[in-house]
Amino acid sequence: MKWNEFGAWGAQVAAWAQDYHATVGERPVRARTRPGEVLNALPETPPEKPEPLEQVFEDFERIVMPGITHWQHPRFFAYFAANAAPASVLAEFLAAALAPQCMLWQTSPAATEMETRMMDWLRQALALPEPFAGVIQDSASSATLAAVLTMREKALNWTGNTRGLAQNPQVRVYSSAEVHTSVDRAIWIAGIGQDNLVRIPITGAWRGMDPQALEAAIRADLAAGLTPAGVILCVGGTGTGATDPIADCLAVAAKYGLYTHVDAAWAGSAMICPEYRHMWQGVERADSIVFNPHKWLGVQFDCSAHFLREPDDLVKTLAIQPEYLKTHGADGMINYSEWSVPLGRRFRALKLWFVLRAYGLENLRRRLHNHITWSHLLHDRIAATPGFEIVTPPMWSLFTFRFAPPGAADADALNLALINAINDDGRIYLTQTRVDGAMVIRFQAGQFDTTERDVMMAYDVITELAAQLA
Ligand SMILES: *Cc1c(COP(=O)(O)O)cnc(C)c1O
Repeated sequence: MKWNEFGAWGAQVAAWAQDYHATVGERPVRARTRPGEVLNALPETPPEKPEPLEQVFEDFERIVMPGITHWQHPRFFAYFAANAAPASVLAEFLAAALAPQCMLWQTSPAATEMETRMMDWLRQALALPEPFAGVIQDSASSATLAAVLTMREKALNWTGNTRGLAQNPQVRVYSSAEVHTSVDRAIWIAGIGQDNLVRIPITGAWRGMDPQALEAAIRADLAAGLTPAGVILCVGGTGTGATDPIADCLAVAAKYGLYTHVDAAWAGSAMICPEYRHMWQGVERADSIVFNPHKWLGVQFDCSAHFLREPDDLVKTLAIQPEYLKTHGADGMINYSEWSVPLGRRFRALKLWFVLRAYGLENLRRRLHNHITWSHLLHDRIAATPGFEIVTPPMWSLFTFRFAPPGAADADALNLALINAINDDGRIYLTQTRVDGAMVIRFQAGQFDTTERDVMMAYDVITELAAQLA
């Protein structure tokens, strides 16, 4: 295939995508593929000779499409949404066509300067104060890793990278057990070790960290000669939306001089709405905050917004400048590769620019507010339905429930059976989690084009299939 055919193919793909989105709601949300089906449909050896793109495209429809789970389906209520608004897809198309490597300012000044401006737009949208500066990471996992490395280096007086951990005191990091597994992996990769990730007990309906227990754990470690380095807090944890009392926990961390990172990967998007900001009240005292516009805000994967109160700490931890990466004559410029673990970076700011302009904050706020309102309505209906019980209350648009009709012997098995029946049915897609050991069903609304009717259809599907099982 040559570039002179690109226009025609590009137009065909664009028309295909528009048609796909017009009808995606009629497809079963979760793929019905059996394990190995796609693998077996793909030839075992690569082609020696070129094949016509018509054939490749036909095979895309025949082999790939049946194996797709439709994340852009309006009744995708599983995990968290991974939205891709049309304006974002267009920007991604342009970024793919330009394909610049945006590691340094000079490797595409527009990408760096656009990133600086977009991150400041997001900072204002979230009402974070000015000292915060941002970088776009590929994922929240990367942002958390960068923050953990920074807390380690700060606690070790910047000697971890040079001397290694064996020659240094034992570093300790604190979080509740409700944080995402990316925290555990950051701790492993940073060489801190899982045993030094101290789990602080949670309390209350928000399943948040107990600040007094946090302080007690820090004091006990200090008394034992260990080196407390940082605290990782969550706002909208993945299982149930668990949210730590941010102001109180940050105050404890500040008292002991610990670096703090707030993981708001999902719920951070909701903070563009002033009415939800009380849920992370005090967050301006954090050192590092991450949220994913690639979840709820409509900007497609990958686009993780990482805010830092003092970027110098992060740069001191991660920057390395061999001669071939120096930009002589432009040394004051930001090189965002010094703010992240990978060197190479895509032009991710472009899709933020397109989305923020194409929808405007007002429209985005209304969408998120609607998702949350409809989710509360569904919650109220399920709570009022005999045989069902709410397990955790709505945190933004996420709540968990359980089907527990009187006399049900094995409630875990019954709820697993219900979730399987729901997902085989195909009209909606839900996932499960465990709360205090019990199997529960999660519901979250957040797909960009979901409607109140879509959310209410979830009620019909859930109750209809539960009645068949009971
Ligand atoms: C989704 C999620 C993550 C992981 O996000 P990635 O961008 O996929 O790394 C981390 N923390 C929370 C709370 C999440 O919901």
